[in-house]
Amino acid sequence: MTTTLYDHIAGDWLSEVPTGLFIGGRWRPSSSGDCIDVIDPSIERCLARVADGTVDDGLAAVEAAAAAAAGWAATPPRRRAEILRRAFERMTARAATLAKLISLENGKALRDAEGEVAYAAEFFRWYAEEAVRIDGSLGLAPGGANRILVQHQPVGISVLVTPWNFPAAMATRKIGPALAAGCTCILKPATETPLTALAVAQILAEAGVPDGVVNVVTTRRSGPVVSAMLHDPRVRKLSFTGSTAVGRTLLREAADQVIGCSMELGGNAPFLVFEDADLDAAVEGAMVAKMRNGGEACTAANRFYVHRSVIDAFARTFADRMAGVRMGPGVDPATGLGPLVNAASRSKVAALVEDAVHRGANVLTGGQVPSGAGYFYPPTVLTDVAADSALLREEIFGPVAPIMPFDTEDEAIAAANDTEYGLVAYVYTGDLARGLRVGERLESGMIALNRGLVSDPAAPFGGVKQSGLGREGSHHGLLEFMEVKYIATTW
Ligand code: NAD
Repeated sequence: MTTTLYDHIAGDWLSEVPTGLFIGGRWRPSSSGDCIDVIDPSIERCLARVADGTVDDGLAAVEAAAAAAAGWAATPPRRRAEILRRAFERMTARAATLAKLISLENGKALRDAEGEVAYAAEFFRWYAEEAVRIDGSLGLAPGGANRILVQHQPVGISVLVTPWNFPAAMATRKIGPALAAGCTCILKPATETPLTALAVAQILAEAGVPDGVVNVVTTRRSGPVVSAMLHDPRVRKLSFTGSTAVGRTLLREAADQVIGCSMELGGNAPFLVFEDADLDAAVEGAMVAKMRNGGEACTAANRFYVHRSVIDAFARTFADRMAGVRMGPGVDPATGLGPLVNAASRSKVAALVEDAVHRGANVLTGGQVPSGAGYFYPPTVLTDVAADSALLREEIFGPVAPIMPFDTEDEAIAAANDTEYGLVAYVYTGDLARGLRVGERLESGMIALNRGLVSDPAAPFGGVKQSGLGREGSHHGLLEFMEVKYIATTW
């Protein structure tokens, strides 16, 4: 394997990967001169060094967003749409390079990274189409004395904070609707994956986004930098994707200025297989729901509840499929499963499996940390998992599948709902009426019925309970960046 970033992308569009802060349409170093080492998790070596932004840099980005705000809000929706459409086209044209970049800094298998780029670009296309569909209403007040006029206006300067697991898609899922709505923004990407965010900024600049409309501040000092931005009175919106723990902290921070929050937080998705399900389809769906992104997805199936009459057949076939997944460096096209993002993530996954095994779980495949460089953890399937095992309560965020039996529909639903999270639930059944009935009773924002995937830019993505507030994607995602203005008028 080659080891440097430039060996991988030499000759590609991004022969010079941006590594500065992107503020007011200019690339600049951190005001402290500090840098972040970006690590390739497949080989545990430094890929590139990126500016480590300070509080002052964060506030400079707010200043730039404020300077551009009125002009962007006044830019006709059609023009905003055309810029977003160009961003979609550029991103699509550069998909191969972007996918390599994602794979190098995040570790995910190249085919997952390619899927992510296609998904990420689609948010620009979808919101190019939504930008021209900002509507309002005009009605007569019930008493007949006046008119009620309702319109949508951009909410204002938006701080966008994104995780490392989908470094391109989580950025475009926020930037797309923010720009369509007429908001300027500051993106604070995850410290582990800044290169993809900077490449997205470059694409947006090339697509014609005016200076200051999108700013990117990479930093290791996420807490102080985001806090300073949230305490600047010009900021009116926080859109956050990440863990529930950090989400709670940011909700408290946002309370000081009563900033509107959209929160896409953690998950603990149940995957239910009923006795009337097509088992081959269920295994296929389980592979997608568990192994997309190597299990590092908020939507990843975390707990498999399978009817007792089919659990042995399901577990055997699923474990065989998992054992056949080829583990290797993300950028190797033959790889099916790359490493986890860092050492801490791998230690957490290993500890969760050890805890389950200690409580009596049976390992059908995997379960051992391999030796050598890279934060690898193998595809793992566990049965006979005790109800008090930690991995049933926590997000595993790795390629580990615990399988538990159930006997009745009520029992399956109660087990599925027994979590503080409520992002997505997977249901496999041959009976559509049962699927819809169970889906209504599951406490989650999204249901995948006989499917292993829900994510779609045209659909409202989001959770209930402690998985979040608000929705991303679809028209709902646009409204998260708009404020309702009511005008009472008599004529
Ligand atoms: P994280 O919460 O650790 O970090 C998310 C972002 O917040 C990063 O940019 C990080 O640098 C920043 N951050 C961390 N501490 C901060 C602080 N004190 N103040 C301000 N910003 C801070 O999450 P992660 O490990 O990057 O991502 C994994 C998590 O994201 C998982 O819990 C996963 O379920 C969740 N996630 C949710 C969705 C969704 O749509 N619901 C999508 C992807 C990931």
